[in-house]
Amino acid sequence: MQLELTPQQKEKQIAYRSFVDSEIMDIADRCDRQEHTPKDLIDKLAQKGYLGAVLPQEWGGGGIDAIAYGLLCEEIGRGCSSLRSLLTVHNMVAYALLKWGSKSQKEYWLPKLATGEVLGAFALSEPNIGSDAKNVETTATNSGNSYILNGQKKWITYGQIADVFLVFAQWDNQPSAFLVPKNSPGLTIKPISGMLGVRASMLAELHLNDCQIPQENLVGRRGFGFSCVANSALDYGRYSVAWGCVGIAQACLEACLQYTSQRQQFGVALKEHQLIRQMITEMVVNVKAARLLCYQAGYLKDKGDPRSIMETSIAKYFASTTATKIANDAVQIHGGNGCSGDYPVQRYWRDAKIMEIIEGSTQIQQIAIADYGYQQHSLAAFSRDLSAKVLTNS
Ligand SMILES: Cc1cc2nc3c(=O)[nH]c(=O)nc-3n(C[C@H](O)[C@H](O)[C@H](O)COP(=O)(O)OP(=O)(O)OC[C@H]3O[C@@H](n4cnc5c(N)ncnc54)[C@H](O)[C@@H]3O)c2cc1C
Repeated sequence: MQLELTPQQKEKQIAYRSFVDSEIMDIADRCDRQEHTPKDLIDKLAQKGYLGAVLPQEWGGGGIDAIAYGLLCEEIGRGCSSLRSLLTVHNMVAYALLKWGSKSQKEYWLPKLATGEVLGAFALSEPNIGSDAKNVETTATNSGNSYILNGQKKWITYGQIADVFLVFAQWDNQPSAFLVPKNSPGLTIKPISGMLGVRASMLAELHLNDCQIPQENLVGRRGFGFSCVANSALDYGRYSVAWGCVGIAQACLEACLQYTSQRQQFGVALKEHQLIRQMITEMVVNVKAARLLCYQAGYLKDKGDPRSIMETSIAKYFASTTATKIANDAVQIHGGNGCSGDYPVQRYWRDAKIMEIIEGSTQIQQIAIADYGYQQHSLAAFSRDLSAKVLTNS
């Protein structure tokens, strides 16, 4: 077994890190305060090819592997979780189309998503429906050559500026997925402000009132919306969020290593106090553990191994809960400064909490992971029984 980045992945990691250091670190706090991501920052992300980095080259993307995509999400997440959220939802839409889109949908949308000419957003949640996502209340009806959508979507990341939404609705009580361009008649976009974290991610509500879209905008088939389209996009989104959480945790660790080396109390640097070192130890170990779980999920994704879905849930659960704990300690270590806008750790703390809620909350991951634990246990017992029978009969 070899656990090392390839030279190409290492090269990409260095490039991503340098992009974040030069373009993002200094402005992330301002974006957070202004609840806005500047267009020129998104343009820079697009120009670097990062928005379409995972799409295959045949569609104009960078064709990077899952591990390299993870490294990109970690680095962007280290700088600004809002911008990482853009990468996440944009690629969820692109990935869903790649997997479930028709030939003409791919030909029309994928090259535009790859270059960032078009920004995609993922519209599943509603005022009454979050975790229980397959029971969305938005409806779709077929009318001649169009679909008519009615309902409301909430918390749509970068909904304020997205060009196309992947919207989930019940068509004859069967969850189905539709592409809704932002200028569709009957679609109204309302900005949401004042969120706890990822404040620059320009959230919006979508109001669909007899919203009319062409028939060719159905993605996959009727009834494929949740089990196929949403689930594959959510797995990809979860993977990106897990890596983004490693980025937040790494940013907290780096901030604390620097702060505790400079700040003095009781005549010595904070880093000389054992209780501070204990928190640093937990950070070092847990960042590494979270990153290793992400590597495992990415490795399986690159192999096309279906076990990657559960490994991604495990990585997202561990990385998001770890990021929350680490960010909590980072604020503690920074004392009063940690509670002020002069240091970024309070932003990391607010952003980390959001990561426990999105892409399947901590509790939803716990339910899936516990089920998996029991399944593994039953399988192990079954194979032990089988081996015992084979031995007895031989
Ligand atoms: C900043 C931000 C960005 C977002 N971006 C998007 C986006 O781009 N697109 C989109 O579609 N949605 C988005 N969301 C919505 C997000 O996906 C939902 O908030 C999430 O799925 C949880 O749903 P909910 O908020 O309705 O909580 P609920 O589902 O109402 O859950 C409330 C609480 O109950 C717990 N809970 C629920 N069910 C169970 C259970 N069976 N057992 C135990 N506990 C349970 C949950 O874990 C949670 O703690 C975003 C949310 C935020 C905060």
